[in-house]
Amino acid sequence: MSKFLDGSLKNLQPYVPGEQPKDVQYIKLNTNESPFPPSQKVIEVLNEEESKKLRLYSDPETSVLVNAIAEFYGVNANQILTGNGSDEILAFIFRAFCGEKGMACPDVSYGFYPVFCNLFNIKYIPVPLKADFTVDVEDYKYIADNVIIANPNAQTGIFLDLEQVEKLLKQNKDRIVVIDEAYVDFGGVSAIPLIDKYDNLVVVQTMSKSRQLAGARIGFAISNRQLIDDLKTVKYSFNPYNVNRLSILAGAAAFGDESYFDACRKKIVSSRERLTKALQEMGFVVLPSKANFLLARHGKIGGRELYLKLKENGVLVRHLSDERISDFVRITIGADDEIDILLNKIKVILGEKK
Ligand code: PMP
Repeated sequence: MSKFLDGSLKNLQPYVPGEQPKDVQYIKLNTNESPFPPSQKVIEVLNEEESKKLRLYSDPETSVLVNAIAEFYGVNANQILTGNGSDEILAFIFRAFCGEKGMACPDVSYGFYPVFCNLFNIKYIPVPLKADFTVDVEDYKYIADNVIIANPNAQTGIFLDLEQVEKLLKQNKDRIVVIDEAYVDFGGVSAIPLIDKYDNLVVVQTMSKSRQLAGARIGFAISNRQLIDDLKTVKYSFNPYNVNRLSILAGAAAFGDESYFDACRKKIVSSRERLTKALQEMGFVVLPSKANFLLARHGKIGGRELYLKLKENGVLVRHLSDERISDFVRITIGADDEIDILLNKIKVILGEKK
């Protein structure tokens, strides 16, 4: 740390992204990316002609992408804001709506939420999940601060029914409720249809998981026009050209290929069911996931040890140091052959523990 770093940042604990190894070729099941390539329509649009246009700034309104999202979800273009990954959208939300108000969220959730609180000097209010890792919305009843729920929840994959989301929205109309739907396309139900009914709802989605575009960095918020305008004020005070030219085109093309999107997410869901069953047969406890990952633990081996042993064997999963889930590993749903290798390696590792 240099002597120049601002004092208010001296205790900032940055978010630690999952490993992105450059040396070894791992089977990479650690950061919830898609095992499939982007749609062929995306690849076609990233052509020489468009690359040459990179000398020009991108469209700050990202209209081509916004229109594609608007058409897909049946909302108005002025109800959408796009960003450089949903991480950026989340940063805009924390900056725009918190400060006087804090942010409450489940104690086991996306690790970036407390980091944003720290960075922007926002009160962070962790609300313990129940023993079975589900959210009890009653726990939020008397919280006046804003609320963010990843749904399905990050790390656990557990989905909170929309009736419960509505309860949360109704409990206090004077606080913002953010529903982070990074994983919603793998079996959850989106809260987007509720945006016209509740003026305190912001839904956030990403193209990183179900649309095979993690490297293009595209996320978006959908809400009512007023809240989106507030977020635009923050965006235009920070980075007007926040989505680059090629990502705008790639994102729009991906939204235009619904059949590929459907085929990929259905495949992930069926592979998730196969992996869950196989792990359970080996004695794992697997949380009921509606995401593109599983959180699983085995009585014979700790989470960290299993992560390290799998890594030695060329398979990268995620171990999260979060105390409540330190017995678990988080496994991204990969392609069929990747899942087969993972299961074989686990079988051998467990065999050695006898
Ligand atoms: N929200 C949740 C719950 C996530 O797990 C992630 C991915 N790490 C993100 C948001 C951010 O995704 P991205 O910035 O790639 O859109």
